[in-house]
Amino acid sequence: HPTAARRPADAITVQGENTLYTDEHITSKFYNRGADVVVQDGNRYLIKPAVTPFEFRLSARSLRLGILMLVGIGGNNGTTLVATILANRHNIAWHTKSTIQRPNYIGSLLRASTIRLGLDATGKDIYAPLSDLLPMVHPNDLVLGGWDISGVPLDAAMKRAAVLEWDLQRQVAPYMKEFGTPLPSIYYPDYIAANQEERADNVIPGNDKSFHLEQIRKDIRNFKATNNLDQVIVFWTANTERYSEIIPGVNDTAGAILSSIRNSHEEVAPSTVFAVASILEGVPFINGAPQNTFVPGVIELAEQHKSFIGGDDLKSGQTKLKSVLAEFLVNAGIKPLSIASYNHLGNNDGQNLSSQRQFRSKEISKSSVVDDMVAANHLLYKTKAEVEAEQGEHPDHIVVIKYVPAVGDSKRAIDEYYSEIMGGGRSTINIFNECEDSLLATPLILDLTILAELLTRIQYRQLVNDADVEFKPLYPVLSLLSYMLKAPLVKPGTDVVNSLSRQRNALETFLKACIGLEGSSDLLLETRIW
Ligand code: NAD
Repeated sequence: HPTAARRPADAITVQGENTLYTDEHITSKFYNRGADVVVQDGNRYLIKPAVTPFEFRLSARSLRLGILMLVGIGGNNGTTLVATILANRHNIAWHTKSTIQRPNYIGSLLRASTIRLGLDATGKDIYAPLSDLLPMVHPNDLVLGGWDISGVPLDAAMKRAAVLEWDLQRQVAPYMKEFGTPLPSIYYPDYIAANQEERADNVIPGNDKSFHLEQIRKDIRNFKATNNLDQVIVFWTANTERYSEIIPGVNDTAGAILSSIRNSHEEVAPSTVFAVASILEGVPFINGAPQNTFVPGVIELAEQHKSFIGGDDLKSGQTKLKSVLAEFLVNAGIKPLSIASYNHLGNNDGQNLSSQRQFRSKEISKSSVVDDMVAANHLLYKTKAEVEAEQGEHPDHIVVIKYVPAVGDSKRAIDEYYSEIMGGGRSTINIFNECEDSLLATPLILDLTILAELLTRIQYRQLVNDADVEFKPLYPVLSLLSYMLKAPLVKPGTDVVNSLSRQRNALETFLKACIGLEGSSDLLLETRIW
């Protein structure tokens, strides 16, 4: 299948004064063009265009392999991801009731979407796979491993998940069996729903959080050494946890979180122990679930160690659509008055979310997705100064999730967008969205992993008066991953961008900048002139 096909490492070459290829690096010059705006008297704008020159340097270290360690590898996402990679790697085709299906990576932004490069000599648009832009790991080459509090071996765990067609399961099972039992994990019953307790038969003993941290660090080091590879990404695709309470002195600073682990403080979640272990080992950690793993102390620790983190919560179905539709309505000058979202699902994630505190984590992560689009249009929505409140005017927005075992992994999402149109009129859009959850989520895990690995190899320097400044790694919070995330974590103090098209544009522009190309523009000036 084309999405799984291997492509030459030098599929794209830029010949230009801003791009330099050597055996070790691709170095590019990029002019970051922006505008400095001063708002005068509330309704006049004074703008000064601004240009800052940068250089990017990508280590082109021949990168054929990487390690992905999944927390929750025995779950629906975990087993679907492992089975999908094995099916692609061993080219396993399977019978469905209507056809013979070949493995692929459909749903992956990197493997299954293209980017417009420019025009050919006849004036036709030329598109290439996004994964061709820069040298990145092929998903088939990921070395996989991970932890689960459930000790069910991976072949049986895949069967339990009931996501994949039987004929695929049958063929991939012998390969899954080779993985055996996941590594034992950290289980603090208070953090996930009580209904998960019977799964927890594969746990690191005791309540000593320091010991747990050291064990996870050891697991990461051992896995690296056994596979003789440097590049590890740790990915949380385990159950949604409850929120941790932010308490001064407990988790608000790097020092506090380390000492809270030493004291086994109850407000340190298992996912936070994994994040801290990854940071201390200098490997990127991505959170695919909604809880606040990245308490302020963890972000500070990542800054101190210059170690990469990204999150939160995979943006697979309903929210992805919402980040498109809400933007479309508001940018069209139509005013959503209410957005009501109902979900039901029947997998283990749904069962865990049927518990109030875990649902609350999901509710928070799903709720903020329209905020920036609403705040960007003060013609439709009154600003906080106008309404004299902490938040400006906002559409009513509710999220309901119910557990309905019968529908299994096939989540149903029902959304109503109720909007004001001209002259007091109303417009209603109803959407019924069937999201085969794990099949939508798995490609996002791959994209996040491969991009995170790529971003660790990119360094930058800001060119000031041609001074010879050192190259630096990117800021630890990888907000360039936002496209795949429901509640993107960003550098503290900066704005979250939820709009899907802006998120994609940012990523495209950045990847292009790394090979010395200008950002993607739809100006098409050559088609507008004589
Ligand atoms: P799942 O319940 O099938 O799998 C989770 C796995 O994590 C289970 O095998 C469980 O035993 C294990 N686990 C729980 N606590 C653990 C711990 N402390 N350490 C190691 N393992 C642990 O769920 P899923 O459908 O695979 O989803 C995984 C996560 O991804 C959930 O938090 C879910 O909310 C999130 N998510 C999923 C989607 C989607 O579309 N599938 C979208 C967004 C977010």
